[in-house]
This record gives sequence, structure tokens and C-alpha cells, in this order.
Amino acid sequence: MNESQTVCPRCRLAMNKVTFRRWEVQLCPRCEGTFYDQQTLDTLLQQPDLRLSYLRPALLPNLSSPHPEEVDRARIPCPQCHQEMTREGYSEETPMLVDRCKNCCSIWLDDGELGHLFEERVKKHPHPHPGFVEGLRRLVGMTPRVSTRTAPQE
Ligand SMILES: [Zn+2]
Ligand SMILES: [Zn+2]
Repeated sequence: MNESQTVCPRCRLAMNKVTFRRWEVQLCPRCEGTFYDQQTLDTLLQQPDLRLSYLRPALLPNLSSPHPEEVDRARIPCPQCHQEMTREGYSEETPMLVDRCKNCCSIWLDDGELGHLFEERVKKHPHPHPGFVEGLRRLVGMTPRVSTRTAPQE
């Protein structure tokens, strides 16, 4: 049987297979959305060098195709089993909204969402090298949080 090709649910284009170590991810060449099974994505998020990988386009928001507002986002069919996906929090620990297929336990991420998810996870499980998180933050254009702690009185 011919290996079935995964098609981007937004652009209807065939997605490219991108391999990071032993994990295979589907990446849309146009909108840079990515598709994973949840277990793979969970494992990927634990790789500190993910940022330097071939998945880099998926980590960064694609400025030429701005994201629709949350309320305007159309429901998309799962690229794998074609059931309608549900927009909901990734996990209890990382409540960022993602598109999930409850039928085959897959996750769709629009471009840039991988970076945000990665950052959310790193906040909960700090990486031993703090400069790395700062680097990622700059990469995705997020301003560092300003500390509101007041200086001790002299
Ligand atoms: Zn696409
Ligand atoms: Zn599915």
C-alpha cells in the first residue's frame, strides 16, 4: 500500500515529513503548522535543543500569515482520521489552547504554537541553563517579564 500522505487541514497541501532524531513530524510548507501524536509531542517538548532543530520554522510565528483571533478560528479536521478537532488546553500543567483530535490522540499546532508550548513547559520545568530560555524568548519576540519585586529599603 502506498504510504498515505498527510494533508494540511488549513492549506490542503501535502505536508513534509521532518525528522528530529527518531521522531517524525509533519510540517506544512506554507503555513508551517505541525502535526504530531500527543506522545511524540510530549517527548519533543522535553528536548532542550528543539529550538535548534529543523522544526525551527514551527517554533516561530509566521509573520506573513497572521493568526486568526481565537474566536475566528475555524474548526479543522484531523489530518490523520478526518474527525473534527477540538480546541482545548494542551494539558493541566500547560493549559495553552491547541487543536486536539480526541479520536486518534493527535495534536495540530499552528506555526509559532510549538514555541509557545515549549516556553510554557520550560517555565514549569526550568532548563539548567537560564540563558537558553531568554534566547528562546527573544527568538519568539516575547518581552521578558519585568520583576515587580520592590527593592529593599536602605
Ligand atoms: Zn498549511
Ligand atoms: Zn484524528
